[in-house]
Amino acid sequence: MDVGDLRAILPPAEPAFRAQQIYEALYSRRITTLKEVSNLPKALRVDLEARTVPGHLKCDSRYQSADGTRRYLLGLADGKSVEAVFMPEDARNTLCISTQVGCPVDCRFCLTALMGLERNLTAGEIVGQVLHLAQDNGLWADEKRINIVMMGQGEPLLNLPNVLKATRLLCDPKGLNISPRRITLSTSGIIPRIAEMGEADVRPKLAISLNASTEEQRRELMPITKKWHLADLIAACRAYPLRPWEKLTFEYVLLGGVNDTDVDARRVVRLLAHLNCKVNLIALNPGPGIPFETPKPERVASFQDIVRKSLPCFIRRPRGLDIYAACGQLKRMESSLVTL
Ligand code: SAH
Ligand code: SF4
Repeated sequence: MDVGDLRAILPPAEPAFRAQQIYEALYSRRITTLKEVSNLPKALRVDLEARTVPGHLKCDSRYQSADGTRRYLLGLADGKSVEAVFMPEDARNTLCISTQVGCPVDCRFCLTALMGLERNLTAGEIVGQVLHLAQDNGLWADEKRINIVMMGQGEPLLNLPNVLKATRLLCDPKGLNISPRRITLSTSGIIPRIAEMGEADVRPKLAISLNASTEEQRRELMPITKKWHLADLIAACRAYPLRPWEKLTFEYVLLGGVNDTDVDARRVVRLLAHLNCKVNLIALNPGPGIPFETPKPERVASFQDIVRKSLPCFIRRPRGLDIYAACGQLKRMESSLVTL
């Protein structure tokens, strides 16, 4: 809930500043029960307690990887559940959060695709993942940076109003106060929604899952390309209003023998020429039912060498592979390394 939503649940006779008081208690002080909002008149608190409850997510399971990554299965009010991943690093902590339960986009290399779409997450459920992971890992007291990537389950641009509302709640200096420079949204390329996101005052940084070097190849790997063509996607990226400090990110999943040749690398460079961008390469994280192979490290290195002659290009190290927490593995799989 934002301040307006809170105002709407208060009795009409209450002064407007009460909504702001509750808002700050929820997002800045991060209270977990209404009892802690001690600056409210008792009668109002009792009335609110009878009708509402701060909607925190319930931890159904938590899996601990040998590399420090933790995958969370978080329970929602309707009994469904969604995944979020905590990745500690030396200088910063990254939280990977979901925007939908499952995903309706049918990428051939992604386990989440096999779930289909169950439903969109609300703004509260998106923010709730950040609150839960930050609290559980003691991040609020920590000097280290919090980075948020909307790269968990779901296609964020198919749930754009809730994703943008969640971003406003996360970034509000009077609330959670996380900089929009530290939030990145990744999309499979829902073209009209890219332009719409560009119009928002408060918005995450934009990453595009490119994953192919030609129109035909992308149609095979990401059938959504039949509707939203690669050429038009690149045109939408060219028209995207970057902020002065911002670059686009292109992600590219390398599939052994499919899209990982030197020829592909040169085509990627040509596609992205004239864009203010960087490229992140991810070697396929395998999974049951995924009909592709992880390329050899030499192949990944050769691809990177070609791209980085023209563009910044990095290899993304997989995190939490042993607990099915890595990119493309979020399908609510059980794993044996449970530490609750
Ligand atoms: N739906 C959004 C965000 C979630 S997917 C999107 O597709 O962009 C996050 C990233 O994981 C995407 O870049 C996707 O291409 C990548 N990914 C999916 N399956 C993968 C796999 N098996 N191995 C490595 N990366 C994968
Ligand atoms: Fe959905 Fe992204 Fe997986 Fe494609 S890669 S199925 S868009 S979560």
